[in-house]
Amino acid sequence: MKRPSEIKVVKAKNAWMLPSSYRALTAFGTIYCNDFRDVELINKTDKIDSTLKCHETIHVKQAENTKNSWWLFYLVYLWQWIKNLPLIFIKVHYAYYFISYELEAYANEENFEYGYHEATQWRMFEEKLSLKNKKKFAKEYKQSKMIFRDFVNKIIIPKLD
Ligand SMILES: [Zn+2]
Repeated sequence: MKRPSEIKVVKAKNAWMLPSSYRALTAFGTIYCNDFRDVELINKTDKIDSTLKCHETIHVKQAENTKNSWWLFYLVYLWQWIKNLPLIFIKVHYAYYFISYELEAYANEENFEYGYHEATQWRMFEEKLSLKNKKKFAKEYKQSKMIFRDFVNKIIIPKLD
């Protein structure tokens, strides 16, 4: 298995077992997709040229920034999700959305240039975003008509500093 830093090009595979609510899931630097069209799109070029590819590449960069260890990355990911469990009472997916790694990936998934660089913004979310504030933002997001990446960029991030 390649360490996160050894992965220069993220490749995709089909995953029939993936729950349909997930479009894609990165596992050890391979993107498993529900849709074969996503697989073709990702493998077509070594460049980051889609929101999906950028989002999943950011997760690889985060793993590189989590002591370059997949196991530690997934442990921290799981721990963040567990801490977010109270958010499922607002909406079931929110425990996942408000994982610091996801907040960074969603916020920057349209900025393809971001995917080529270090991904450390998740540390800022870990430091500055308490569960209490996550609950507040989760309720606000539920009422809003925004897509999640816009909500993170326009509502959450400006209020953290
Ligand atoms: Zn993600």
